Amino acid sequence: MTKDFWHAEEYMIFIEFLKTYDSVLRDPRGGKLQNVVILFNTYSDQPPLTLEQFELYLDGFNSISDNAIEFKKDVWGQRIHFVDTDKLELVKARVSGVATKWTVKKVELEDNLSNLIEFLDTEDNSYEEIINLINQPTAKIVLSKTRSKLMVPQPFFEVCTDPQHCKVLSRVCLSRTEISSNNPKQIFPSIDECYISIDNNRHLFSKGIYGCSKSKIHHLPIINTHTELNLGDCSYLDTCHKMKSCRYLHYFTLSPSITPIDRAEELQKVRKALYEQEFTLGYCFSEFCKEILPPQWINCDVRKLPFKVLGKFSAIVSDPAWDIHMSLPYGTCSDAELMELPMHELQDEGIMLLWVTGRSIEIGRKALRKWGYTIKDEVIWIKLNQLKRTIVTGRTGHWLNHSKEHLLVGLKGNPSWINNMIDINTIVSNTRETSRKPDEVYDMVERIVGVHARKLEIFGRDHNIRPGWMTIGNQVTGTSIVEEEVLYKYHEINNIN
Ligand code: SAH
Repeated sequence: MTKDFWHAEEYMIFIEFLKTYDSVLRDPRGGKLQNVVILFNTYSDQPPLTLEQFELYLDGFNSISDNAIEFKKDVWGQRIHFVDTDKLELVKARVSGVATKWTVKKVELEDNLSNLIEFLDTEDNSYEEIINLINQPTAKIVLSKTRSKLMVPQPFFEVCTDPQHCKVLSRVCLSRTEISSNNPKQIFPSIDECYISIDNNRHLFSKGIYGCSKSKIHHLPIINTHTELNLGDCSYLDTCHKMKSCRYLHYFTLSPSITPIDRAEELQKVRKALYEQEFTLGYCFSEFCKEILPPQWINCDVRKLPFKVLGKFSAIVSDPAWDIHMSLPYGTCSDAELMELPMHELQDEGIMLLWVTGRSIEIGRKALRKWGYTIKDEVIWIKLNQLKRTIVTGRTGHWLNHSKEHLLVGLKGNPSWINNMIDINTIVSNTRETSRKPDEVYDMVERIVGVHARKLEIFGRDHNIRPGWMTIGNQVTGTSIVEEEVLYKYHEINNIN
C-alpha cells in the first residue's frame, strides 16, 4: 500500500537522521535524493521508502516545518540544497510538546467554504459587515503586536508640572555645598546621590512631593551665582556648551530610574513570557534555537573594509557622515564615496534605514535605489529639548531652523519575516550629543526583524554598541568580534594568524 501522509511524530526520525548524517549535503552524496533515501532507509526502522514516497515524505515535512528543506534541481535530479536547522529544532520542540501552548484545531475547509457561501447568500448581511470582516487585523499583525508589547520592559514616567515640586527638590538635590563635598570634580550630583539627599531630607517634604519625586520626572532649576532668573530659559538648555558661565536658566533632570536589579528582573520576566509563547511567525529565529549575539564592533574606515568579511544582515542602520557643509566634530565622506560603498554585499533581503539630512535626502534616495532597495517609508524624528518641548532654535538648517530629522526606510527582496504595520513613522524624543540619534530606532528595528537577527550599524559610535548588533565606524574604540566566521575572515584580510 502506498503511503502519502505522515504524522508529525513520524518526522522525528528524519530530524535525527539529518543530525547524525549532516554530511549528506556535502560531496560525494551532495544531497542527491536517490542517495539520501538509501541512507535514510538503512537508518530508519520504518518500512523502506521508494524515491517517490521519499519526495512526498519531504513535501509533508516542509509543510509542517515552514520549508526547512530547500531543494535544487540539476542534471543529477532533485538535490537537498540547504537544511534550516533552527526550523528542525522547532518542529522537534513542537512535537515533544515543549514549544507550544496552542493546540492546532483541525479546520474542515469544505465546511468553512460552505459557511462563507451561506453567509454571503443571506440577504440581511450588509456590505459593511463584510468590509468589517475584511478589515480585521490579520493573525500576523495581532501576534506581532502582542510580542512587541511583551518585549518593551521600560516603564513610562510622566513629567511633573508643579513648579513648586521642582523648586523644593532643587534646593535639596542641588545644594552646592553638598555637590562640592561629595565629588569636587563633578558639576552635578548623580541621580542616585539626588535620591539619597531626598531620603535624608525626607522631613523637609510634604508626602505629596516625596512620592512625586519617585514617580515622575522633575526638571530642577539650576540656580548658580551667575544665573539671572529674569533672562529666562537658555535656548540650548542641557546642550549649552557654556553652562558654567551662561547667565540663562538651565535645568537638571531628575528622573526616577529603575535599578539594574529591577531591570534584570524585568528582562527575566520578558524572556520567560516570550519563552512560554511560541512567537515564531515573523521571526528569523526562534528563542528556542538561538541566543542573542553579544555586541560586536569594528574600528575601521568603512571605505576600506571589505564588506564580505561581515556576512549578511537582516537590518542595516546607516548614519553616514554626509558632507553637509557645517562644522562637525568628525570627518565626513563625499557623496561619491558613500554611493560607491558596496552595500549590496551586506544583505540578500531585509531592511536598510538611512539617516539623511537636507541636501542628502535626494542623494540618499538615489543611493538606496542603486543598492537595490525600494523606498518603503520615511520616519521622522521630532527633536525635543530637555524640557520635552519641541526645539525652536535648532542649530542646523541653512534656511529654516531644523527641528526634525529624516530616516529613509528601504526594503530589499520580499522577506516574509518582516513585521511591518507595528511601529509608526514618527519618533518624538530628546536630542543628545551632536549627531547622536534616538535609541528608539533600535527597538523599532528589533520589532521589525527580531532581536535574534543579525543587525549592522554603519558609522556608529561607542554609545551605539549593543547586543545583537555589529557596529562599525572610525570612532568606535577597538574591535571586538565574537562570531567565528567573521573573526576568521577579519584575521585573513588583516594577515593575523
Ligand atoms: N549615528 C551616530 C552618529 C554618527 S556620526 C550616533 O548615534 O551617535 C558619523 C560617524 O561616522 C562619526 O563617528 C564619524 O567619525 C564617522 N565616520 C566618518 N567617516 C568615516 C569613515 N570613512 N569610516 C568610518 N567612519 C566614519
